[in-house]
Amino acid sequence: MADAARARVGTRSTQKRADVLEALDACQDFVSAQQLHARMAGAGLQVGLSTVYRTLQALDRDGRLDTVRDADGERLYRWRPTAGHRHYLICRRCGRSQAVDTDVVEQWAERLAETSGFDGVEHTLELSGVCPRCRPPRTSCTA
Ligand SMILES: [Zn+2]
Ligand SMILES: [Zn+2]
Repeated sequence: MADAARARVGTRSTQKRADVLEALDACQDFVSAQQLHARMAGAGLQVGLSTVYRTLQALDRDGRLDTVRDADGERLYRWRPTAGHRHYLICRRCGRSQAVDTDVVEQWAERLAETSGFDGVEHTLELSGVCPRCRPPRTSCTA
């Protein structure tokens, strides 16, 4: 057992990366590095928080993740299953997220790139609100 563990040391960083990706893939929603680290620890995976941070940053650079910021400004990550990027509406209370149709934004951004003469135009879009589950029920009474 110990020998087998030692034999894997050479491929440890790739293995950790695969572990992080797998844990991310198992998450339905956006997670912070700390939440992901806690999940991995709960699953019996021994990986340091700093490794999780570094791996997430590397995956983000490679365009493998969607990222948003929560109400406290903390970065949250989600594995991007498809090549194209998507935008999400995220609940400020519970962190639940849902993909939104942003064709209008994409088309506008493309047009802007064409008309401005700028090359490699990129955009980020952060959308947040309070989801129906967290929103207090509306009453007809006004205080
Ligand atoms: Zn919510
Ligand atoms: Zn976009």
